[in-house]
Amino acid sequence: MTVVRRLSEDMINRIAAGEVVERPASVVKELVENAIDAGAKRVEIVTAGGGASLIRVSDDGGGMTREDLALAVDRHCTSKLTDDLLDIRTLGFRGEALASIGAVARLSIASRHASEPHAWEIVVEGGLVHPPRPAGLSAGTRVEVTDLFFSTPARLKFLKGERAEATAVTDIVKRLAMAHPEVRFALAGSDRGAIDYPVAHGDDPFVERLGQILGQDFVDNALAIEAEREGIRLTGYAGLPTFNRGNGLHQFLFVNGRPVRDKLLLGALRAGYADVMSRDRHPVAALRIELEPHGVDVNVHPAKSDVRFRDPGLVRGLIVGALRNAIHQAGHRSATTGGSATLAAFRTGAPPAAPAWRPATSASTAPLSFASWQSSPAPAQPAYAPATAFAEPLQPAFAAVNVPSADARANAPAEVDHSDRPLGAARAQLHENYILAQTTNGLVIVDQHAAHERLVYERMKTALARSGVARQILLIPDVIDLPEDDVGRLLKRADEFAELGLVIEGFGPGAVAVRETPALLGELDTRALVVNLADDLAEWDDTTRLREKLDHVAATMACHGSVRSGRRLRPEEMDALLREMEATPGSGQCNHGRPTYVELKLSDIERLFGRR
Ligand code: ADP
Ligand code: MG
Repeated sequence: MTVVRRLSEDMINRIAAGEVVERPASVVKELVENAIDAGAKRVEIVTAGGGASLIRVSDDGGGMTREDLALAVDRHCTSKLTDDLLDIRTLGFRGEALASIGAVARLSIASRHASEPHAWEIVVEGGLVHPPRPAGLSAGTRVEVTDLFFSTPARLKFLKGERAEATAVTDIVKRLAMAHPEVRFALAGSDRGAIDYPVAHGDDPFVERLGQILGQDFVDNALAIEAEREGIRLTGYAGLPTFNRGNGLHQFLFVNGRPVRDKLLLGALRAGYADVMSRDRHPVAALRIELEPHGVDVNVHPAKSDVRFRDPGLVRGLIVGALRNAIHQAGHRSATTGGSATLAAFRTGAPPAAPAWRPATSASTAPLSFASWQSSPAPAQPAYAPATAFAEPLQPAFAAVNVPSADARANAPAEVDHSDRPLGAARAQLHENYILAQTTNGLVIVDQHAAHERLVYERMKTALARSGVARQILLIPDVIDLPEDDVGRLLKRADEFAELGLVIEGFGPGAVAVRETPALLGELDTRALVVNLADDLAEWDDTTRLREKLDHVAATMACHGSVRSGRRLRPEEMDALLREMEATPGSGQCNHGRPTYVELKLSDIERLFGRR
């Protein structure tokens, strides 16, 4: 026979706590939100053991009276909710965070309200509330949580390692700090490196805070987003498509000052970039949505990181439209509006004769769409202005033909004439990145960087299959600062990376030192490479062997190791590059699917000049 019993208060609290307090980071989130709701201008967070052994959050907000303090740790007690569940203007409103934390940990809150002669402190241990007693604290509130989950050992077992939990805490603090640039945030502890985000003043406190958190790099490579539709306001910054990352961890979304991880919003962000980014890359963005509280329901889940919009289609449209618009405009900024007739005449990939080295994908023979992938910031305008009449239809690399740059070798005769080869004879190098070659019936422009990247990738695969990769020792090791989590993941794979020619070592808690690199990469951007590899590892299962992902790793390495634009090549070197391209399968495109060269037939050139 079944017996229906009413659960004890203690059991109810522990069950509820399971939803609110999933891990140390959720405790930090609730406590920091309380501090912000209390009007704090300064929030200090200290953790130990990834937050499992200690979390302390201190604020300079309004504090609580003795009476409020006693109530606050009870379930369903809040000062924030009125009668209208759809009129929420604070981060908290459910009145269950403190009660939940008190049910699964040792909680002690000291708080001073201006109306009290001194501060009061209350202690709750596994749901057992002790009476308030006087405490020494001049203002604000200090909440201390120790031995998280001591009363629910099952939950304790689900915690990841100290490092992973500490990183999750950092992440939530970053998100809350981003949403509230007017508040100073400091985070420290024995389990982490300290961070401190001073109050952002200035005209645009948000962008200042973004600089503090994501680095000036992001700010320099971001587009300002601003749009409004039917009372819904979207503001923020979105990275240029070329400033992408290997995972979606760098996407920050806020609704009315609340960090959220909402599927609808993340989907809209991806859709905004759909045309300009491959599926396996992820944009970096920080976007804020502000709307009237009735337009959004935040009471979807106890953790309050999901929201439901009254008009989801409108919100999605607003985001997608604003992003596309900004990206489109940036594309024009960098691509210097080429006449579409000219662009259409440029072809990529194999000539019609279908030789053995024809690029693998048929897509590469389609007319190029420059605007879709040329969206990095515009290079400084060249000093020479192309003749005005031609300014419109000319691409920058092309315009340079008028005035030979210092390294153009237009007249240097090649010893052997390669004009009859598919990629022709190299005639000049322009802007230190484009090789101009003459073919029997036209001309070819090679993107030296993209081509080299592809060749290195192929060589690397061959070398790996055969014997292993030769390494070169760096004179001075490159030290690269990274989040501790990433450092841990990278070092775990150190042996496997060494096999691939990359030798890394730990360098303190938040850095790795790169000692050796694959020789065939030449000079490389070790920082970018290591950051990218860390991103990849964050996404892959711990048990995935790097060998299984070899193509991917090799491609990443090739990308960072290739001659970046800017290296001057001698005529023989240019010809050698062209010949190697002809001999290498799939060299018509780089590892990102962009073409490595474009071809213009004489007939096309004649058309350009109206001769046909
Ligand atoms: P909620 O935030 O949903 O109201 P909590 O359990 O998080 O529920 O907090 C209960 C109440 O305790 C809050 O409504 C607030 O009045 C008070 N409180 C909690 N933390 C602070 C703080 N740091 N400063 C002032 N008051 C606080
Ligand atoms: Mg709260």
